[in-house]
Amino acid sequence: MTILTYLLIFIIGSMLGSFFNVCIYRLPRGEGLLFPGSHCPLCNMPIKPWENIPILSYILLRGRCSHCQGKISGRYILVEFICGLLYLGLYLRFGLGIDFFCFLFFISVLVIITFTDLEHFLILDRVTYPAMIIGLIACLIRKDLINGILGLLVGAGIIYLIVIISAIILKMINHPCKDEGGMGLGDVKLAGVMGVFLGWKFVLVSMFLSCLFGSIVGMILILSGLKKRTDYIPFGPYLAMGSLVTVLWGEKILGWYLRLLV
Ligand SMILES: [Zn+2]
Repeated sequence: MTILTYLLIFIIGSMLGSFFNVCIYRLPRGEGLLFPGSHCPLCNMPIKPWENIPILSYILLRGRCSHCQGKISGRYILVEFICGLLYLGLYLRFGLGIDFFCFLFFISVLVIITFTDLEHFLILDRVTYPAMIIGLIACLIRKDLINGILGLLVGAGIIYLIVIISAIILKMINHPCKDEGGMGLGDVKLAGVMGVFLGWKFVLVSMFLSCLFGSIVGMILILSGLKKRTDYIPFGPYLAMGSLVTVLWGEKILGWYLRLLV
């Protein structure tokens, strides 16, 4: 029975992941989400229902469109698989309560933001603003509104400060990226969303983790020659990674840190 529940949750996760793939493709292009129906981005042929099964279709079609044989981005199967795993992880952590559904929404938003930021360097207002509002409504329902508002201010405030300070430093040292800057207002809004869902205490944990992940992965990318020091590396995915770890293990990490202090 348990195995069946796990399987069911994984399948629901991958099906929603399949919908998030549509969001990731269409939102940055300003297209509607429901119409027109799914079609191949290369030849515009409508996708048949059996070609729309998460994960399996991609494997059966060997990552190619059945009509034009054009290559379909590996991101499709990746997002479907990741969402299946994430939903399963959330279920194992929270069971089926209100926390599960709140964080399920939050993590789904993070998946969409991560991939639009990686592919287009964009964190869209069309995603962050509605997420903030839904998050605040969820706080209201859980009678935790003050914590959500404080979290929003703390999260967005910290990243806003970093944006301003890094812009000043980049100008001072006349760095080649001084006009693009390291982080943008999209990151500020994302940090606001994180604060609403995590609350002020745990948004601090997630900020710390995000910076840690950002420096480690950034260093690996630069040392391995995959990126140059002057290349733009989007920060949204690190914020998402920090949030995910905080959702799953934040209480443990905070408890461990506080014990170090006393
Ligand atoms: Zn095609």
